[in-house]
Amino acid sequence: MGHWLRLGELELLVVSDGVMRQDAGAVFGLVPRIMWESHAGELDDKYRMRLGLNCLLVKAWGKTILVDTGIGSKSVRAPGAMGTAESGRLLDNLAAEGIRPEDIEIVVNTHLHFDHCGGNTVLDDGRPLPAFPRARYVIQQGEWEAATHPNERTRGTYLVENIEPLADARQVELVRGEAELAKGVRMVPAPGHTQDHCIVELDSGGQTAIYIGELAQHPVMLERLPWVSAFDILPLVSMETKRDLIERATASHALLIAVHAAYPGLGRLRAEAGRRKWEEEKENGANR
Ligand SMILES: [Zn+2]
Repeated sequence: MGHWLRLGELELLVVSDGVMRQDAGAVFGLVPRIMWESHAGELDDKYRMRLGLNCLLVKAWGKTILVDTGIGSKSVRAPGAMGTAESGRLLDNLAAEGIRPEDIEIVVNTHLHFDHCGGNTVLDDGRPLPAFPRARYVIQQGEWEAATHPNERTRGTYLVENIEPLADARQVELVRGEAELAKGVRMVPAPGHTQDHCIVELDSGGQTAIYIGELAQHPVMLERLPWVSAFDILPLVSMETKRDLIERATASHALLIAVHAAYPGLGRLRAEAGRRKWEEEKENGANR
């Protein structure tokens, strides 16, 4: 079931594409196993941990916006040791909430790694086509360049079938820097995981929510500033971007939506004895 909540005038639905399995050591980067293993949950026989694939639907002023699309339902050329058997559920989960692909007017990708834009397209008679036929897909120009000119390290995660059909259908809208998608809904640069990685900030009725993209793969990485994933292209930049997010989110008591946390991945940061503490958001009256 979908997890709906209201933020001022905005209606939000955290909607999952399922889960993926990822090498836990890579998720935690330079952090020694002895420090991360109590946080990673149970690992499978390939030492992989479970990561959520939390996407966000926003209804704002008559517009329907989808932020990230998970791994999607196409058979996946998954890089490395990744496990994708339990993903590809986004469209079914949207349908369960009465939302059809043609209802989506804007798709935003925080970045173009396969686990954030795989659901951009679906197979139709074996050919990948845009999954959301009426949507414009809003993507950072620099991220588009990186994805369409991958190097030896990035080509395993920038998969042509997730992006090229959008251009062929003329549904791509490239933006540079901050972009307002609707009143109170902004795509905001948050470099580090990739050079042009973005987050999505939502403000309405004096409340703030932030879809954090890949600024942290696990909430404990928001409590511990130097815990940065090995997947980040620019780890020291990630750390500074994260520092800024942590300060702002703590001060504003923003609701954070953590993409790769267990569904629905909602929580807030609180300052406690000079440290940050992630507090998982419990069900409350604001939820529908
Ligand atoms: Zn990811």
